[in-house]
Amino acid sequence: MKGERREIDPLRAKARIVHEKLIQAYGQPTWRPHLDAISEVVSTILSQNTNDGNRDRAFNQLRAAFPTWEMVRDAPVEAIAAAINPAGLAPQKAPRIKQALQFITTQRGTLDLDFLKDMPVQQAKEWLMQIKGIGPKTAAIVLLFALGRPAFPVDTHIYRVTRRLGLVDPHMSVEKAHDILEQLLDPEMYYPFHLNVIRHGREVCQARRPRCAACVLKDWCDYYCQNMALRE
Ligand code: SF4
Repeated sequence: MKGERREIDPLRAKARIVHEKLIQAYGQPTWRPHLDAISEVVSTILSQNTNDGNRDRAFNQLRAAFPTWEMVRDAPVEAIAAAINPAGLAPQKAPRIKQALQFITTQRGTLDLDFLKDMPVQQAKEWLMQIKGIGPKTAAIVLLFALGRPAFPVDTHIYRVTRRLGLVDPHMSVEKAHDILEQLLDPEMYYPFHLNVIRHGREVCQARRPRCAACVLKDWCDYYCQNMALRE
């Protein structure tokens, strides 16, 4: 345990520097109202393998066709699939949404996830991950954004950038990366770090050609030190 602390402390310090550099570059993201927890579950299922625009169009079409989540839960899968068509993979996503809403109702007697606010975070994650189609990222999104709980979601940008930086071991699974980043960051950093690292991944640390020369993090980046510094 003592050994683990020795390894993790320098990484916590590095995570804080990265956080501060990104705040300097992009500013402190302000908390904005997010969807309620049930809507967040549905929205994140819709977001799988598509972009934000298609997800939002599908979500709005679903809400227009079925004004309440109870109506979605009780609707035929084919009708849900028709409504969410813009998100793609509708034949897979429609039953997943219906099953998620049915599961919550069966377990709780109602379509309400507010009880997760009072549960320890790890237990709340495990509760959500019983739902088919909900993994650690979706569980953390629902907890952080909809319920204001200290959970850190790791999306594809965060996974790539934090591995390049060396905050997360390059061979570590994305599931494990959730646990590690939660340990490295203070809970009040989760929300701004999440948003700023995603922005950095989209604008600078892109998957195919990271723009290292323009990167404010290069002095703290393992990838840069190992691959790029000698070329400049
Ligand atoms: S230095 Fe390059 S690889 Fe490292 S975080 Fe910046 S853009 Fe990404």
